[in-house]
Amino acid sequence: MYDIRVTVKQNKRVSDGLWVLSYHAPKTVKKILPGQFLQFRLTSSTDPFLRRPFSAYKIKGDVIEVLYEPVGVGTRLMSQMKPGDEFCSLGPLGNSFTPVKKKKVLMVGGGVGAAPLVFMAERHVYDKMLLGFRNKSVVLPKSEAPGSKSNWIYATNDGSVGHKGFVTELLEGILKEGDPKQYFIYSCGPKPMLYEVARIARKYKVDGELSLEERMGCGVGACLGCVVETQDGYVASCKSGPVFSIKDLTLEGLKSE
Ligand SMILES: Cc1cc2nc3c(=O)[nH]c(=O)nc-3n(C[C@H](O)[C@H](O)[C@H](O)COP(=O)(O)OP(=O)(O)OC[C@H]3O[C@@H](n4cnc5c(N)ncnc54)[C@H](O)[C@@H]3O)c2cc1C
Repeated sequence: MYDIRVTVKQNKRVSDGLWVLSYHAPKTVKKILPGQFLQFRLTSSTDPFLRRPFSAYKIKGDVIEVLYEPVGVGTRLMSQMKPGDEFCSLGPLGNSFTPVKKKKVLMVGGGVGAAPLVFMAERHVYDKMLLGFRNKSVVLPKSEAPGSKSNWIYATNDGSVGHKGFVTELLEGILKEGDPKQYFIYSCGPKPMLYEVARIARKYKVDGELSLEERMGCGVGACLGCVVETQDGYVASCKSGPVFSIKDLTLEGLKSE
């Protein structure tokens, strides 16, 4: 794990509401795996006081890209950063998705939860990328797909792009049609979506992994600000996760806020 001062290479909008920030981190890129995250200290002032966690989105040479949506003080600060600006990046942190063989992989992402799935898609074969967004303004465009774009399928709450409704409806449609046993799911996104993914996976007896976006304090298992309920009790998501086998999580734990 490295805590390094990095320099912004580029900070660009990829849709109305989504941004990609990139920076050189030659040591980190050699180690980081899909699902792992970085903790950013964006300013030397105390606001925001805590570091903010972000999944690795893409690796290009020695450059890390991070996909983000400005939602609060930290991410708005990020959106104002210019090439040459400096900040601190701690990572790689947490665990990563487990690659599977002999299964058809379905990726299910909600909002910026698409980030670690795109990184996984960059490195491993997958069948379909199902992506859900609030509306058109925050849709991750197909131009961001590594390789083929034909297997990216969208859902939006208002129907402005793709299926009108939740991305989990697309997932259930696919599992209903074929033999569910042939599939494996990787998913990341807001908790209510992950709850639905876990519920559907249980219903159709499909294995998979969920990456949780719990709010985090330290990112290294010390503050216990991100505990989640597993079948074996409570664990810190930053240290034991953020990626968990669907079987190891409880539906109750995914329900609670
Ligand atoms: C392992 C991990 C990976 C993540 N990867 C990404 C990523 O790749 N891209 C990205 O944009 N975001 C990602 N997030 C979420 C990101 O860390 C938060 O959006 C960010 O911390 C918000 O900081 P802020 O200061 O802008 O917002 P704040 O001012 O702290 O909060 C603004 C609003 O966002 C809500 N919020 C903040 N954090 C979370 C969260 N984790 N879950 C749900 N709601 C939250 C707050 O309740 C509040 O309503 C990830 C989180 C985790 C734990």
